[in-house]
Formats: sequence, C-alpha cells, structure tokens
Amino acid sequence: MVRPKVVLPENGLSEKELLNSIEEARKDDIVWEEGRVWSLVYHASDEHTEMLKKTHNMFFSKNALSPLAFPSLKKFETDVVSMTIDLLHGDKKCRGSLTSGGTESILMAVKTYRDWAREKFPNIKEPEMVVPSSAHPSFDKASDYFNVKIVKVPVDKETHRADVQAMKDAITDNTILMVGSACDFPRGLVDPITELAPIASERGIGMHVDSCLGGFMLPFVKKLGYPVPEFDFAVPGVTSMTIDVHKYGYGAKGASLVLYRKERLWKHQFSVYIDWSGGVYIATTMRGTRPGGPIAAAWAAMNSLGMDGYMKLADKVMKTTKKIIKGIEEIPEIYILGDPVMSVLSFTSDVFNVFQLGDLLDEKGWHLDRIQFPSALHIMVNPHHADIVDTFLQDLKDAVAEIRKHPEEIKDGEAAMYGLIASLPDRGKVKDFVLNFLTNQYKIQ
Ligand SMILES: *Cc1c(COP(=O)(O)O)cnc(C)c1O
Repeated sequence: MVRPKVVLPENGLSEKELLNSIEEARKDDIVWEEGRVWSLVYHASDEHTEMLKKTHNMFFSKNALSPLAFPSLKKFETDVVSMTIDLLHGDKKCRGSLTSGGTESILMAVKTYRDWAREKFPNIKEPEMVVPSSAHPSFDKASDYFNVKIVKVPVDKETHRADVQAMKDAITDNTILMVGSACDFPRGLVDPITELAPIASERGIGMHVDSCLGGFMLPFVKKLGYPVPEFDFAVPGVTSMTIDVHKYGYGAKGASLVLYRKERLWKHQFSVYIDWSGGVYIATTMRGTRPGGPIAAAWAAMNSLGMDGYMKLADKVMKTTKKIIKGIEEIPEIYILGDPVMSVLSFTSDVFNVFQLGDLLDEKGWHLDRIQFPSALHIMVNPHHADIVDTFLQDLKDAVAEIRKHPEEIKDGEAAMYGLIASLPDRGKVKDFVLNFLTNQYKIQ
C-alpha cells in the first residue's frame, strides 16, 4: 500500500509555521485587489469588507440547522428574505430561504417545482422544464440531480435573449416550469420576462426568474434612470426567483436567496423526517449544518449599505460600465454582444480570434473569462474597477493594435485551448477532455 504524499502531521504546526505555509500556498493566487480580474470577486470597499469579517466572525461557530437554537440567525435570515422580497416587488405573502449560493438556490427551486407538480399534475410522470440556452448550468445540474428533464431553447440569434415563440413551442404536456434570467451570466441580458410569464401563467405552471447576478443591481440601476425591463415579482405569473447576496448584494461568500410568491409552493422545498432515532429531522434547504457567519454578514451588508449605499455603488459601477462600453465601441474590430442592461457584458470580433486578444490581455496582467457560442471575452464590473478602467481601455486598444499588426500569430496560450473546445464538433470528446482535466486538477500525489 502506497500512502499519499500529504498526510496528517505527526505534531501540529505552530501558528507561525502554519501562516508561513499558507503564505507560500497563496503566492500564485490571482491578485484581484488591483482590479485586474473581471470575475469571481465582488467588493464594495475595504471598510465594508472589514465590517463583513467582523460580523461573520461573531457567528463563526453558530449553526442555523435548527430554527430554535440561535434566534439571532433566524431573525437575520427572515429579515434578509423580507428586505429582498420588498426590493423585488413581492408582497408580505412571499416566502423564501437563505442558501449557500446561487447553485443551491436553483437546485432548491427545481426540486420544489418537481414535488409541487407531483401534487398539482399527478398525471405527469416525466416532468420537464423549458430553459433558454443562456441560463446558468445550475439548471442542468438540477435536471441531473432531480430527474426533471431540461429542454434547452436556443436564444434569439439577434438579441441573444430568450426566444419567446420558441420557448412557447417547447412546452409539452409534461412541462412544469419555465425559466428566464435577469440578467444572464454570459452576456448580461434580461430575458423578456413580461412575455414569458403570461405563457407560464396561462398553463398554470411555474415561472422562475434567475436573478442571482442581477437581483441586487437591477432595482438600483432602474432607480438611477437607466432602462431596465420588468423582471421581478411585479410581473404577474412570476412564481419564484433566485438572488445572490454574495454577488452584488456585497455579502460574504456563502449567501443566496430562493424566493417564492406563495407559501404553499415554498413548503415543497422542505425535508421533514419524523421517524429517525436521532429525533425529528428538519431542513429547509439542501444542507444540514449551516454556518452562521454568511447569514449574519448578509444581514449586516444589507443594513449597513441601505438603499442609499446600494444606489451609490450601483451608480459607480454603471458609470464605469458605460465608460467600458464607450471604449469598446471606439475600437472598430470588436463589438459587444446584445444590449447589456447592467454591469455584465461580453465582446467579440469578426476580424480576428477574440481568444487571441484574451491571451494578449493575460500577458498584460488582466484576467477576463472566456465564453462561447459565439466566442467572446466577459466582463463583470465592480466598484473597485472604477480606478483602473482607463488603464484597461488603453491596454485593450494596444492589444487590438498588436493583433492588427501580427494577425497570423497564434500562440499556445488559452486561445488555442478555448478555440479547440468551442470548435470541436464531437462534444462527447470535449466532455471527456474536460473531465480528465478536472480529475487531474485535484489529483493526490
Ligand atoms: C453566479 C450565478 C449563478 C450561480 O451562483 P453560485 O453562487 O455561483 O452558485 C446562477 N445564475 C446566475 C445568472 C449567476 O450569475
């Protein structure tokens, strides 16, 4: 038997040794603080983050598994749910739960509709959900986990938003749920919720709006006077929503919400087991143990920012976004996909391979996500990007100019890999390749 290389140390390390090891381990982490990363981290300000850490730590050891042990956490959760319902034009009959993230929120929503449909449509044995192709992969995950077939409908080729007629045509006798995004992750667009919801409503099926990304931006962006289509509980027929506090809610990581218009739908989310030898076991979401820190920090974030705090941050983020949009529009070789509503956008080129541009920007110290169908580079704007936006636009211009000079030069960077992944017709092979990549990433030595 060959033991793995890393095993429990015989004697515990001193704090000094520990911190040294940790410093060493994190030296290659991407440095997001300088604003050169355009994804993954949401940051209101250094003071806000310190406040989050403080409140998070106060509840570090507490567990929200039971609603009885820590009334504080129950209050924080219901307050956060209530404030968000109000922000999204729900009324006091709405209900919801705090989860660990957008993925758990979406998994919960799909599971809830499945169990609700078993009661409401007992003849449906193989339930389906109709989902635009731009929706987050959490819906695919939910489909895999909970046996609700996912019917993916390509988005409109011009607008890149959900194609209403095609979504309607995809409904069958087995459909229990329709999905839209506000906004979607790839291109920052809001699906035509006001047109989708009546279709769902007429059939008596669910209409879920995934606002994980936009839920804590769009209400403020609208108040600032930017055009925002209706997307929330104000639209009749919207029966549930998902919203991430740990994105533009500027909470600590590990906080998201799943909200329902009606309590009788929400109830199908719960797990109640009354015959266990360990006692009556209840859980409102997927998890058992629920760390108190992110719940307290979510409450602290919302109460410390308040309406004016969120408005100020949204204003700063939108001004930065508009600068970026203008900068991109001034470069004839590249263009933005669709008409982004808030602070998430992607851009591409018909003249050169945009992933080559991505590689050049990497070399200049930037980190932009790559997206596909069509290939594009992705930007998610945060308040701390305001200070660096001019440098970014200059580097973008320079990088495009470099490609113009040497269009033939494709290096072995990520452009090659992403280009390959996007272009291979055999998707089974691509999936195998990615699966192998992933298993290798977490290999034990
Ligand atoms: C981020 C995101 C999710 C998933 O949220 P996680 O917190 O990463 O699990 C779902 N939908 C959209 C639109 C998102 O942007």
